[in-house]
Amino acid sequence: MLLREGFCTGFYNRGMTRPFDVCIRGAGIVGRTLALLLGQQRLRVGLVGLDAPGPDVSPNVGRDVRAYALNARSKAILESLRVWPNGADATAVTHMEVHGDAGGTVFFNAQDQGAEALSWIVDVPALERCLTDALRFQPQVECLAEPCEAALTVVCEGNAGGAREALGVRSTVFAYPQRAIAGRLRCDHAHTQTARQWFRGGEILAFLPMAGPDGNSIAFVWSVLNERAADLMALPNAALCQELETFSGLALGHLELFGDRGSWPLQLTEVDRWVGAEKGKAWALAGDAAHTVHPLAGQGLNLGLEDAAVLTETIRTREYWRGLGDSRLLRRYERARRADVQRTALTMHGLQQLFALPGSGWQTVRNLGMNGFDHSGVIKQWVAQQAMGT
Ligand SMILES: Cc1cc2nc3c(=O)[nH]c(=O)nc-3n(C[C@H](O)[C@H](O)[C@H](O)COP(=O)(O)OP(=O)(O)OC[C@H]3O[C@@H](n4cnc5c(N)ncnc54)[C@H](O)[C@@H]3O)c2cc1C
Repeated sequence: MLLREGFCTGFYNRGMTRPFDVCIRGAGIVGRTLALLLGQQRLRVGLVGLDAPGPDVSPNVGRDVRAYALNARSKAILESLRVWPNGADATAVTHMEVHGDAGGTVFFNAQDQGAEALSWIVDVPALERCLTDALRFQPQVECLAEPCEAALTVVCEGNAGGAREALGVRSTVFAYPQRAIAGRLRCDHAHTQTARQWFRGGEILAFLPMAGPDGNSIAFVWSVLNERAADLMALPNAALCQELETFSGLALGHLELFGDRGSWPLQLTEVDRWVGAEKGKAWALAGDAAHTVHPLAGQGLNLGLEDAAVLTETIRTREYWRGLGDSRLLRRYERARRADVQRTALTMHGLQQLFALPGSGWQTVRNLGMNGFDHSGVIKQWVAQQAMGT
């Protein structure tokens, strides 16, 4: 087994002979978070792949240009590990506007929910840095170049790693004929801590506030048909900004793209099993290895972080005589997570499909529906609380 020097505590742990309790395959945000959570439980963890980009890293992106909308539950998980990014790298969203394609609008407000924020927009590279720094000080976690023998293997390789299939997991995939284009923009007007979203002609554009409460920079995510994504990706910066200004009705004035842009394929993925044992070796899936959802409501990583927290809690509270690979224990984790993930995935899918339906009849129905929803009181409150993870 190879140890990578300079990451985690592999360098210091050389010669350590205690066997690994858990092997985590894939060191994205979910894998790193899970490693830290299990390390806190004094389990010995091998984390595979921190310095080895896997096949799912988009070739057109160097530094990840995305910013994630994370809810209060995810914030609590990351804060418990002291890896929540500081100040300008995590901007609180206090208002949200969702615009339909024929005058329908829904407004959310943190104050109405009795909350500090509806969500936080987190700079992805900043969060990754916080996690990597924390791993350096967690002696229970060792970074490895190859998978190790352990009582339990957790696959966190995202949606494109090969380990899931090698374990015999079958996945059902609905490939949206869309890609999401993402990047960073400077705007004429301040964002006023408002997240804005437009649904139009089957496309979805989100403007996410960044750089603190008074900032005037945003991250955008634009889901468009594959062919249009290729055209938009090929545009010079100024022309792409013009397209964004038109689609957003100049809501934040003139826009200036800075840094790279990237694009990602979009799919809904469900797996037939989250846990199992292969040749007597126990395994579990977490994060995008277990599910992917359309990013229209920014829920994918929130679900993955909850997987990590629930798996850790399931292990922590196990009966003293159950081993880490105990099949009943692992099924508890699967049961606890599957229904939550299915509900979120179906809601995202339903919304995407509803706004993709052509024709003025559907347009009227969905926009009336939005206005009705905006005045629905208890229902709106419930939906907001679900999205906020509270
Ligand atoms: C455009 C877009 C916007 C999004 N916005 C949001 C948002 O606002 N909020 C939100 O909650 N979610 C959002 N998501 C979803 C979010 O990106 C994912 O849910 C999240 O990144 C999943 O994390 P993960 O660690 O499970 O997987 P990944 O991020 O895919 O990480 C997997 C890791 O495993 C590694 N790996 C793969 N194969 C191997 C291998 N064979 N060996 C070793 N390592 C391997 C990879 O290199 C990677 O480091 C968005 C997604 C997209 C596409």
